[in-house]
Amino acid sequence: MPSLERRDFLKIAGAGAAGAAVAAGLPASATAEAVDPLNYFGMLYDATKCVGCNACTMACRQWNKTKAEVRDGLYDSPKTLSAHTWTLIQLYKESDQMSFVKRACMHCVDPACVSGCPVHALQKSAAGPVTYDPSRCIGCRYCMYTCPFHVPRFEWEAVIPVVAKCTLCADRVAQGLGSACAERCPTGALIWGKRGDLIAEAEGRLKANPERYVDHVYGKDDVGGTSVMYLSAVPFEKLGLDNMGTDPIPALSESTANIFLPTILIGGPLMLLAVRTIAQREGWG
Ligand code: SF4
Ligand code: SF4
Ligand code: SF4
Repeated sequence: MPSLERRDFLKIAGAGAAGAAVAAGLPASATAEAVDPLNYFGMLYDATKCVGCNACTMACRQWNKTKAEVRDGLYDSPKTLSAHTWTLIQLYKESDQMSFVKRACMHCVDPACVSGCPVHALQKSAAGPVTYDPSRCIGCRYCMYTCPFHVPRFEWEAVIPVVAKCTLCADRVAQGLGSACAERCPTGALIWGKRGDLIAEAEGRLKANPERYVDHVYGKDDVGGTSVMYLSAVPFEKLGLDNMGTDPIPALSESTANIFLPTILIGGPLMLLAVRTIAQREGWG
């Protein structure tokens, strides 16, 4: 959906929360302008070096102060991403093949979540992280629908819910630091750097040990490129990293928005507005 049409829709819906949010003076563009994608910060995750220790998961929890979860009677052994678990290690195992795989936001070069967000609550920063501003979010959850990696999660249980995902440690980047998870990895499976340097490192590993890897750097070109990239010994599809081509996803999400966006935009914001109004009136959290 061209942005003009989307704005027009929001004007029509202006009597509701969506219109109010848009009228609040939002940026014309949510995408980092004229930044060479090779200069974005990012991470390279080499699944062949990962030992599944989850030090990265714990480092993320500690740095971001996300709360530990109890699921299926187990204390803090998350199996999937959630509003409180922004990264985790999953195990792929099949006959004689096994691999760990780290899950988190990929910080796409051309992110579908940013393109799809009607109020620019999600933005691609010039440094690389795809960041989220809860004060702008109208709770439409369209980012959950548009993300090709199914990353953003909603805080369903919160009185005033927000969307949550890995930030690529944007707060640390602003201080000149790398990510907490890469800093903690004891095996070098997860490394931090500029995207261009990480691609060179990954391609060097492929060249030096071709028998060790699938001959592909996932995220170098996939879905238009991602800031978090992968090397693996097993086919990427088996790790949940599908072959989605090299075109950025936003074009697709914007065309399907024609069908779904009006419903989501009206239902989600009104629900969130109602919750916020009641919460403010009652003095909740
Ligand atoms: S992986 Fe999903 S949430 Fe993360 S930047 Fe890409 S589209 Fe957005
Ligand atoms: S980059 Fe930061 S926010 Fe993202 S998974 Fe690593 S520690 Fe967590
Ligand atoms: S800290 Fe490193 S080795 Fe441990 S699970 Fe995370 S990526 Fe794998």
